[in-house]
Amino acid sequence: MSITIQNLNKHFGSFQALNNINLNVPTGKLTSLLGPSGCGKTTLLRIIAGLENADNGKILFDGQDVTGKHVRERKVGFVFQHYALFRHMNVFDNVAFGLSVLPKSDRPGKAEIRARVEELLALVQLSHLAKAYPHQLSGGQRQRIALARALAVKPKLLLLDEPFGALDAKVRKELRTWLRDIHHELGITSILVTHDQEEALEVSDEIVVMNHGKIEQTGNADTLYRSPANAFVTEFLGETDAFEGRIEKGAWQYHGFRWPLEAAAWQEQTATAYVRPHEWALAENGTPMLTARIGKIHAAGALTHLTLQPEQGREIHVTFAGSEAAQRGFTVGQNIALTPKQIYVFSQNELIDYSI
Ligand code: ATP
Repeated sequence: MSITIQNLNKHFGSFQALNNINLNVPTGKLTSLLGPSGCGKTTLLRIIAGLENADNGKILFDGQDVTGKHVRERKVGFVFQHYALFRHMNVFDNVAFGLSVLPKSDRPGKAEIRARVEELLALVQLSHLAKAYPHQLSGGQRQRIALARALAVKPKLLLLDEPFGALDAKVRKELRTWLRDIHHELGITSILVTHDQEEALEVSDEIVVMNHGKIEQTGNADTLYRSPANAFVTEFLGETDAFEGRIEKGAWQYHGFRWPLEAAAWQEQTATAYVRPHEWALAENGTPMLTARIGKIHAAGALTHLTLQPEQGREIHVTFAGSEAAQRGFTVGQNIALTPKQIYVFSQNELIDYSI
């Protein structure tokens, strides 16, 4: 099922939580709503579910207007951060719950419910825990049961609000991979709310980056990472260091270093350039952008991370392939000259240039 959102706004009193949201969620894809705390992700998810009303705008499911429809009529499945399993019911009954409360005319027979629950427990790989109660499960197991329960009624849309938010880092990582696999196996349209960029980059087909109630950019992980639309997206997706320079004479300039801009006609102004840790090279000739002292070296297998103290400005991070670092023989205290392989130049949050 595809979801279309048109010109949607939402206020809480005088506070605007969502500002003119327009979005298409394609059928069968896992789309993440990614953004900092308070940017409106949960509000948007709740409006899609029918748990909250927008001030105006439209929501279409497969082209049909569902804006005025009740949550029950929208056929969505939910998984929230805080596992909402019924404590007095065992795992089997929790998963069966949604089916057993359907109106008589839609309710499957007992044998069919049993078969469906067994199928779902096998899908989430917890068949052996059918008779256990929620307090006997780990946090990760509870979230897997919550997912099985959400899927029991065969929803056309699955909404996940920080489903792994309360779990420790290792379990989160395992469940991410697991969620992506299950999603693709089922082919269901899913929307995941997360503030964790690594999680969004790892599991999503499409990512919607939000900030202050607005959509900043929509795209797959590769597009957002390589072609960020503005400074917010650049900073939010992955580590990056910022350098305040000026645009003059068709180039971004920083302490004597010049980076020619493709659109040479830019007027003179201050502009920030962003460089990611792996986008630096040792300067072989010409004026380097930075000269910096190596403060720390952390060799992590395939990659070596350097923490550098530049002559001007704050500490920065640079990553080299482990083989190059070994060949260069970096040492703490050594001064190195660096030049970027790629930079992203923005003025007042707007993209000016990124080029290799
Ligand atoms: P988080 O990651 O912290 O959950 P979020 O991006 O999901 O954040 P929302 O929960 O959608 O953000 O909230 C967006 C803004 O709207 C916040 O400033 C929040 O305080 C406000 N807000 C949300 N629900 C209500 C409400 N029922 N009444 C008043 N303000 C609300």
